[in-house]
Amino acid sequence: MAGSPSEKFRAIIVGGGVAGLVASHTFFKAGIDHVVLERGSEAAPPTGASIAIYPHGARILQQLGMLEQTKAIADPLEDGATNRWPDGSPVQWSDLWRFVRENHGAELMLLERRGYLEVLWQNLPDKSKVLFNKKVADIVEDDDGVEVFLSDGTSERGDIVIGADGVHSTVREKMWERANRLEPGIIDVKEKKAITTQWKCLLGFGPGEPQMKNELSVVYNKGYSFLLGTQPRRCFYFVFQRVKEPWTRYNRPRYTQEDAAKMAAEVADMPVSETMVFGELWRRRWRGAVVDIEEGVLSRWYYGRTVLVGDTAHKITPNLALGGNSGMESVVVLTNLLHSILTSHSPSKPSHDALTKVFQSYQDQRLPRMRQIMEFSRLISRTQAWDNWILKMLSIWVLPYLPQRKLANDLGEIIRKAPMLDFVPLGDWKKGLMEWEDMKDEKEAKKDGVTSNVLKSLPVSSLWAALLVGLLFGGLGGSALVSRLAI
Ligand SMILES: Cc1cc2nc3c(=O)[nH]c(=O)nc-3n(C[C@H](O)[C@H](O)[C@H](O)COP(=O)(O)OP(=O)(O)OC[C@H]3O[C@@H](n4cnc5c(N)ncnc54)[C@H](O)[C@@H]3O)c2cc1C
Repeated sequence: MAGSPSEKFRAIIVGGGVAGLVASHTFFKAGIDHVVLERGSEAAPPTGASIAIYPHGARILQQLGMLEQTKAIADPLEDGATNRWPDGSPVQWSDLWRFVRENHGAELMLLERRGYLEVLWQNLPDKSKVLFNKKVADIVEDDDGVEVFLSDGTSERGDIVIGADGVHSTVREKMWERANRLEPGIIDVKEKKAITTQWKCLLGFGPGEPQMKNELSVVYNKGYSFLLGTQPRRCFYFVFQRVKEPWTRYNRPRYTQEDAAKMAAEVADMPVSETMVFGELWRRRWRGAVVDIEEGVLSRWYYGRTVLVGDTAHKITPNLALGGNSGMESVVVLTNLLHSILTSHSPSKPSHDALTKVFQSYQDQRLPRMRQIMEFSRLISRTQAWDNWILKMLSIWVLPYLPQRKLANDLGEIIRKAPMLDFVPLGDWKKGLMEWEDMKDEKEAKKDGVTSNVLKSLPVSSLWAALLVGLLFGGLGGSALVSRLAI
């Protein structure tokens, strides 16, 4: 591989989803030899519905040379965002996506998830690095490296294993087993149950609906909510529903198409706009399924020569569409650190201790940010499903009266602090109203350092502050709103 800082170092990436395929791209840029082991038989299987890529994800795609290809199969959301009452009438409209574009110089792109995986796959510089039908069954670590055993009887040897195998990760399971064998109790039950399911989701997509605007909309209801991306070419829809008792991966249910039909029937009569009910969308679907919505951020992201990226380490509710973007961020941070250490150790391999420092630094950089993003997503998903009366009041008495740019600016605080590859030029990027943290000049960065700790907790705390203000200055919406509270 041209420009490789260390010819002999080899990473084994388990999982060829969003995180795994992005890792293959970033490792190629970094000159890190690797293989991706994917248990499925194809790169872009027909599962899931949409994926929204934020400007910080777009920046990474631009560095990897795939932004234009992604844009070509995405549609911008031109008509903004609407939050609706359970009867489909609007509570609040905002030009959210224009603000996001103005803040960061890039669109929010909404596209089919399968199409996105296809872009990642088709643009790989070396497709032979991805092996299909390779299900990881076991991982054995020794002093010199790791051996990854596959269910087809073969194995792959490398220096590190990267678990990008999703929320039900086998790599994580093997890492935990080894950690507790060598240091009993280091991974406790709390950690094993850190990712729980409190929501399930009926997802689907189908043709564009001429009656619907080109927007992202939310329909509030008690205990569940609709999220819709309605566009000229396609409509994506999600019904989030609270489950009675939370569960973990150890006792999770498996869903069938009958479960999807049942859940769809329960909400078929519910309005999703002024003119349509959910059943109309569902009847025309191209695909639909029920999935668990897991949430949780692990407190340990590595052990020995194993390190976790993407949903394996951090899983958030999808209402803000930040999960996949966050997985890309984790891959980027890990790649930056590996690139740096491999370059400085070239041509020899970094020691076990040096790798531990890299993984610790990766975890230190990513964990607090992912906890913050998870909390923000958690608050939004629960607000949309009126999880308690305070959140219901927040959604109808407070949020509609905040300045139009508020949510975009809160999101902007997350977006502008996202990482990109630190050894690859970005190229032309339109300047926005909010400055990217890593593109500031030194003087600005110092000035910002003083306030950064306060800003760190901004999105969540500002919503709560707004709620308090709303409560203090109650009566904001008059008696019509009071009567709606009884819904
Ligand atoms: C309803 C919904 C909507 C969403 N919308 C958005 C959105 O709009 N924007 C956004 O950014 N995020 C969104 N997300 C989140 C996003 O889809 C995930 O964060 C992202 O797909 C995680 O990528 P990953 O590569 O970590 O894991 P995955 O995509 O789960 O990939 C894991 C891969 O590992 C493979 N694998 C598993 N076990 C093994 C094994 N033992 N051996 C080999 N391979 C294995 C799997 O086959 C799979 O290909 C959404 C999530 C949901 C549920």
